[in-house]
Amino acid sequence: MAGNAKQTHSGHRGLDMDEPLIFEQDAPGRTGVDLAEPPAVQDRLGGLARRGPVGLPGLSEPQVVRHFARLSRMNYAIDTGLYPLGSCTMKHNPRLNEKVARLPGLGDLHPMQPEETVQGAFELIDTLAHWIKTLTGMPAVAMSPAAGAHGELCGLMCIRAAHEAKGNPRARVLVPESAHGTNPATAAMCGYTVDAIPADDRGRVDLAAFEAKLGDDVAGVMLTNPNTCGLFENDIVKVADRIHEIGGYFYADGANFNAIVGRVRPGDLGIDAMHLNLHKTFSTPHGGGGPGSGPVVLSEALAPYAPVPFVVHGPDGFRLAEHAGGDAAKTFGRMKGFHGQMGMFIRALSYMLSHGSDGLRQVAEDAVLNANYVLARLQDVMSPAYPGPCMHEVLFDDHFLKDTGVSTLDFAKAMIDEGYHPMTVYFPLIVHGAMLVEPTETESKDSVDRFIDSLRYLAEKAKSGDTAFFEQAPELTPRRRLDETRAARSPVLRWQPPPAADAAE
Ligand SMILES: *Cc1c(COP(=O)(O)O)cnc(C)c1O
Repeated sequence: MAGNAKQTHSGHRGLDMDEPLIFEQDAPGRTGVDLAEPPAVQDRLGGLARRGPVGLPGLSEPQVVRHFARLSRMNYAIDTGLYPLGSCTMKHNPRLNEKVARLPGLGDLHPMQPEETVQGAFELIDTLAHWIKTLTGMPAVAMSPAAGAHGELCGLMCIRAAHEAKGNPRARVLVPESAHGTNPATAAMCGYTVDAIPADDRGRVDLAAFEAKLGDDVAGVMLTNPNTCGLFENDIVKVADRIHEIGGYFYADGANFNAIVGRVRPGDLGIDAMHLNLHKTFSTPHGGGGPGSGPVVLSEALAPYAPVPFVVHGPDGFRLAEHAGGDAAKTFGRMKGFHGQMGMFIRALSYMLSHGSDGLRQVAEDAVLNANYVLARLQDVMSPAYPGPCMHEVLFDDHFLKDTGVSTLDFAKAMIDEGYHPMTVYFPLIVHGAMLVEPTETESKDSVDRFIDSLRYLAEKAKSGDTAFFEQAPELTPRRRLDETRAARSPVLRWQPPPAADAAE
């Protein structure tokens, strides 16, 4: 417990409630509902029967409600505060999207319904696909991938299928050192050797190093733009030209599309495949493991290999087809049950239509403006990793903490006491002690100013030599700083009752 915290008899600390785990609260036989004994039914499982109780805890309804309400209060969320987690685009989720997704005609859909009863849903998918293609300047989109990483897998499987159709899948995929870990993981899963491209001293792909790696065994390149340092890859058109010259394909990681939506069309840059994270750029909720949605736009060259199914417009309305009008035999197959994350499609389309083209362009402009404001107001006390303006996120390294005894991790933990979720730390890997701050466009100037003031306070505190202030952080949270290795290897999963009040100091 915190040295300065008063010991309570209950173990609660004011509004911060402490209680046993839900399984430890079990009272066998207690229940929230009173159901009649089910009638005996004919066994349809060939004699398979449950051998004993399933082991669910016996709890009343108020116990369950309180337990989960209390847990939710220990969490940080976009709905409670600024969430500067770089690369994740933790923007506000407009409630209009939620309202639309809950309309009975949409919310009560079932994926097994007959096609003639879900024409509106197909039209919605088709309309969203239209706007995705328009915004990216690409001719085709595969809607089913369930997240960014799944979209990368989809794109690389298309690339592999396209090479295989020409008789040789090729062996290497080029990936910048600054890439998100899902990029090399995807290439490796598709059977490729990952060949890392170094960054230059401006935080961009080193074009000469990239060119030196080209060869006829290179299947393609995976490039993020703006990249994970929050910088626009100025040589992107040259990268596209060079990879096409050797017969390879260009995969773009579109996770950072928020910085350029409405301003840049990836199709104009020579991209062959790119995923969008609807849960980042298009404001569908994320965190807590999903659900996400990662549609993949494709060039003419890759479109025939896209996964099935497609929504197509026939003489009698929409229907699902096993190909997009091209050669059905070329598809690499199916990625996912049903048609994709319908609930996310609804929210993303609601977001697009409520913003309009001018609104979406302003999203990108304000996201970039907010990040540059953070950069401008912090550059005298923290250390920007690269000179010059940034895109939608600003990357700091740990130079400003040199000789203070305070690490990037200490600094991040102290932010929790200030009431902020930390920024992304130690990513990208090419910067020492990286801190990647993405304020997003949905924070007001007041909110960004308060955040900046807290960071200035912490940076000055670190430079003042007050290491004790950081060593213990966070001190004001329900749980104090954990030994991260021990917490992962031997987690304490049981509730620790409070020490007897008279034993407290
Ligand atoms: C978020 C992100 C991904 C992965 O997307 P998920 O939807 O989390 O699978 C890939 N690349 C970058 C740069 C990202 O920020």
